[in-house]
Amino acid sequence: MAYVTQVTRRYITETNSPEHAHWNTLYEIGDTVPVSGIYRCQGCGDEITSNAGQPFPPQNRHQHADSSVAVLWQLIVRTKTS
Ligand SMILES: [Zn+2]
Repeated sequence: MAYVTQVTRRYITETNSPEHAHWNTLYEIGDTVPVSGIYRCQGCGDEITSNAGQPFPPQNRHQHADSSVAVLWQLIVRTKTS
């Protein structure tokens, strides 16, 4: 869960393009990060910040005790970076 305060919540805005692929794709280990932001692992709920163009964390940086639970990253907050 990403947190904001009553003061900082004003900087979070619902997107007007939720159909865009980066909102609807689950990314695997080693995939290239499409847009900068906060991503959540579908398998365990951990969150990471990642920058566009970088690879998602490798297997040795994020793994599950139960190896049958896949590591799949979902974009939950896109950041505005220039
Ligand atoms: Zn995980």
